[in-house]
Amino acid sequence: MLWQGRRQSENIEDRRGISGRGMAVGGGIGTLLIAAVVYFLGGDPSAVLDQQQQGNIPIEQTEVPNKASDEAGQFAATMLADTEDIWAKLFNDMNRQYVDPKLVLFSNSTQSGCGFASEATGPFYCPADSKVYLDISFFDEMKNRFNAAGDFAQAYVIAHEVGHHVQHLLGITNKVDAQRSRLSEREMNKLSVKLELQADFLAGVWAHYEQQLQNPKFNANVIQSGDINEALNAANAIGDDRLQKESQGYVVPDAFTHGTSEQRIYWFKKGYESGDINDGDTFSDPSLN
Ligand SMILES: [Zn+2]
Repeated sequence: MLWQGRRQSENIEDRRGISGRGMAVGGGIGTLLIAAVVYFLGGDPSAVLDQQQQGNIPIEQTEVPNKASDEAGQFAATMLADTEDIWAKLFNDMNRQYVDPKLVLFSNSTQSGCGFASEATGPFYCPADSKVYLDISFFDEMKNRFNAAGDFAQAYVIAHEVGHHVQHLLGITNKVDAQRSRLSEREMNKLSVKLELQADFLAGVWAHYEQQLQNPKFNANVIQSGDINEALNAANAIGDDRLQKESQGYVVPDAFTHGTSEQRIYWFKKGYESGDINDGDTFSDPSLN
């Protein structure tokens, strides 16, 4: 990607390096749960974060820089800016108002509106505070552990989490949550897969418009050849079937919460090719029922 030199969002909370008063607590079942989700990109944070850690002293907003000084942070801020521009326009086309989410960069651990996030927590979106949480070291893990390197693979992760924010603004997240209490775990997992695959689709829609962006500094497209393949490779690497197979040697489809590699690729690609949000109804897609 030729991302440098373009607008960076200021909807950043760079909490890296900020000592976490009241945030250093861990251990217990919560941590085990969190450790189990290190593989996943987001999902339902209330299911994975340690709820007991809620109520700790919140980080004072005034201490937190809204700009990143390092390249990884600047990249994230630039990608966030691109999602802001693209989704603001798409919402405007729907006669809706897009409300920007915040992106919290953290290291080690932090407090979120959905509970306590440790370094083992993958990137996630918290609907309660409309913030995306990202420990940038996750990108190293993608590269080293999942063999999913590349800046566009990272952009896909951010776009996927912003996709959850879009779902939240459109009321989809609430609809899914409302069903939580009356569904079995198996049925809930199925619903979770649909929500996740839709976030992949929305990341694809974002990529569709991102591809049309030019970088005047280089007089070239922001997206370069090979970039889309980086996202597809990442989607392939983090499918539930592949992760389960790698971690336990076998696959349990009922326990899927994000979809198979093939499904994740399919829905990202579908959004990327169409660019039309109306093509992303994973909830009534016959192949997912
Ligand atoms: Zn997700």
